[in-house]
Amino acid sequence: MKIIEPKPALVPLVLTAIDQSNYCDLTGLSTEVIASAKKQSFREKMLITHRGLSGPAILQISSYWNPGESILIDLAPDHDVTKPIRSTNVRNITVARAAFHKLLPSRMATRWLELNGPQSWTNKDLADLESRAHEWKITPAGTEGYEKAEVTAGGIDTNELSGKTMECRKVPGLYFIGEVVDVTGQLGGFNFQWAWASGAAAAVQFSARK
Ligand SMILES: Cc1cc2nc3c(=O)[nH]c(=O)nc-3n(C[C@H](O)[C@H](O)[C@H](O)COP(=O)(O)OP(=O)(O)OC[C@H]3O[C@@H](n4cnc5c(N)ncnc54)[C@H](O)[C@@H]3O)c2cc1C
Repeated sequence: MKIIEPKPALVPLVLTAIDQSNYCDLTGLSTEVIASAKKQSFREKMLITHRGLSGPAILQISSYWNPGESILIDLAPDHDVTKPIRSTNVRNITVARAAFHKLLPSRMATRWLELNGPQSWTNKDLADLESRAHEWKITPAGTEGYEKAEVTAGGIDTNELSGKTMECRKVPGLYFIGEVVDVTGQLGGFNFQWAWASGAAAAVQFSARK
């Protein structure tokens, strides 16, 4: 029977040792972001934890992330964050901090600018800063694993099962339901719904067979 490689999903991400030392003393701070991986994006809260990143935006994107890949984080969705810097004659770190403090928790804004600030205050470097703020690239070291995951992605290939009854095509009388099947919902109750609905579908068929 074909099994899609299982992996933890809806799970906090762990940062590399360098990124942990850069950001994880900010644990507990959260902000609204758009987290993206491949063609998926989620606009939700992101939370800094003592080992990495969590919050709904990160849990959601973790289901689409694979080891070695990067995720992109828009720290200022819908905002032209460098506009206040560009539109003043006095361009310096104080003005930049004030601009970022409007959008991010102040300690996060200060730290992020220390580590990702512009080389100079030219329009070109400010344009680069604007891009970095909207596409902050993070390559996680891993996930917090099954211990902290809300679901398991992967499992029994759905092609092996009848979509109506959940009965195994190759082994009549054998049923697979819920999380063990390669069906993974996003946050919002979809995994419970899948477990109950697939269980009900199998139960109807199973009792009819008796
Ligand atoms: C912390 C957390 C929060 C979650 N929050 C949500 C949420 O808000 N909304 C949502 O939709 N989903 C949520 N989920 C996911 C959801 O709980 C699961 O997707 C769902 O419970 C899967 O149902 P299941 O029946 O397939 O598996 P399970 O609920 O895991 O049930 C499997 C059962 O089989 C038993 N079992 C295992 N091995 C054996 C064995 N060898 N013999 C006999 N029994 C065995 C286990 O003890 C268990 O009782 C959450 C999960 C976690 C961990």
